[in-house]
Amino acid sequence: MIQGTGRPVFSGVAIGRAYIYKKEQASLPTSCGDAAVEQQKFEEAKAAAVEQLQALVEETTERLGEEQAMILDVQMMMLDDLDYLESIEAMIKNGASAAEAVKETGDTFSAAFAAMDDAYMQARAVDVKDVSSRVVTILCGGKVGFSMEEPGILVAEDLTPSETVQMPKDKILAFVTRQGSSNSHTAILARIMGLPALVKTQINVDDDIDGKLMIVDGFEGTYYIDPDEETVAAMKEKQRNAQEYQRELETYRGKESVTKNGQKIKLYANIGNPSDVEHVLKGDAEGVGLLRSEFLYLGREDYPTEDELFEAYRKVVEGLEGRPLVIRTLDIGADKQADYFELDKEENPALGLRGIRICIRRPKVFRTQMRAIYRASALGPVGVMFPMIASVWEVRKVREMCEEIRREMQEEGIAIGSVEHGIMVETPAAAVISEQLAKEVDFFSVGTNDLTQYTLAVDRQNPNLEEFYDAHHPALLELLRMVAANAHKAGIWCGICGELGADLSMTETFLEMGYDELSVSPTRVLELRKKVCESEVTSK
Ligand code: PEP
Ligand code: MG
Repeated sequence: MIQGTGRPVFSGVAIGRAYIYKKEQASLPTSCGDAAVEQQKFEEAKAAAVEQLQALVEETTERLGEEQAMILDVQMMMLDDLDYLESIEAMIKNGASAAEAVKETGDTFSAAFAAMDDAYMQARAVDVKDVSSRVVTILCGGKVGFSMEEPGILVAEDLTPSETVQMPKDKILAFVTRQGSSNSHTAILARIMGLPALVKTQINVDDDIDGKLMIVDGFEGTYYIDPDEETVAAMKEKQRNAQEYQRELETYRGKESVTKNGQKIKLYANIGNPSDVEHVLKGDAEGVGLLRSEFLYLGREDYPTEDELFEAYRKVVEGLEGRPLVIRTLDIGADKQADYFELDKEENPALGLRGIRICIRRPKVFRTQMRAIYRASALGPVGVMFPMIASVWEVRKVREMCEEIRREMQEEGIAIGSVEHGIMVETPAAAVISEQLAKEVDFFSVGTNDLTQYTLAVDRQNPNLEEFYDAHHPALLELLRMVAANAHKAGIWCGICGELGADLSMTETFLEMGYDELSVSPTRVLELRKKVCESEVTSK
């Protein structure tokens, strides 16, 4: 039995087979010396790649629509392209290994596509690179993407948010990464999905652990590979206890979130994708206080269209059956990167072009998204909020842009509901000037994840600084108090949508501060309601 530890991101116990997720390896295997054998290896890897792509086409069509799935069709066609195949064959004959030949051919073809004048052909540069890297990874013994046959525990060196959104959620029981921080978006996604997860573990992703029985204990931050019988029995017992606790929480389903003194608070959920509505209903959240809309922009090759965005929002509004929804406009940048935005490389991306700054610089991108949000608002209660606000002029600017979009849509005869416009308070500047900002908007939602990182000057992504990332720091609490007081002075509501909102040791403090709403991972709502109902505080 191998045993190790890591930082727990979400509690729970998972038992299943380990599934190693590998990105392309840095050093490729060299030729065995026999060109025929290498050619045969290539043929087999190609067939396996086609099989993976076919499965992915089906999955993608279902999740993201046919348009996205077509990209994968193009990739399959490339594996039949004669020039491409001849190039690989010639290199193998010249002494290259199958993996080297595919990598080299992929790079050469990709560079050639990128240099073409035609925009369509240029876009194929990414496809040829992608499909070649799939074949190379297969040749290196790894798997590409998340074509898991049966539910298992995903083990990876690290996972980016864009990889995490592409995970087949129904197949993943837990995930364990060697790197990663518990404040990252990947960790947040694990909480939304209710997956036991550990980051910053000692696990060796190169170990021969693929397919072995594994246990993740998200309560203790421990994992076991090839566990002995005693450990399996103890963990099953822990699993049963966790289920028992869940059953106890179920008694709070449908109850009002109100303290013993009668102070009410709204308990909403944070989500990233339309499919998360299922978790909202399961978790009994009273609405969605944060839809991180940028996740709809990740894991794609190009910008989503207005119709695609509208479809996604429509699904959420309809799925929520009358519960309110707050859509945050895209917060791309920092750790959430999409290549097609072609953002410059930055020294300090967390302080760079991200959030509302991108929307102000790229009004077309903002307009497409706002039109989709306004269209969705005709179908149910929808609010919108803007991320990374630091100044009053930014709010005035985006509200002006919104007004123009609204007017244009009204002229086109498009129905729009009554939309509340709010801002995220996640920069110290916004908290400090919250008295002025409150006059410009309908609500505040405090993003404690970023507010902590910017107030304390501690990178939330850096796993080596977690002891300094103190979300209970007095400076942060002072800002939180100020924001709530300024919101109420101006007669607007305020909530918290950062991870701190789910911290049960803070619930009474937030009630005392007078927060009107806490928006948390859907899996945390029932225990938070229990805490609220057991509290006996009143706001000062
Ligand atoms: C936050 O910063 O607290 C927040 C909710 O936004 P995100 O985690 O997406 O940056
Ligand atoms: Mg934030």
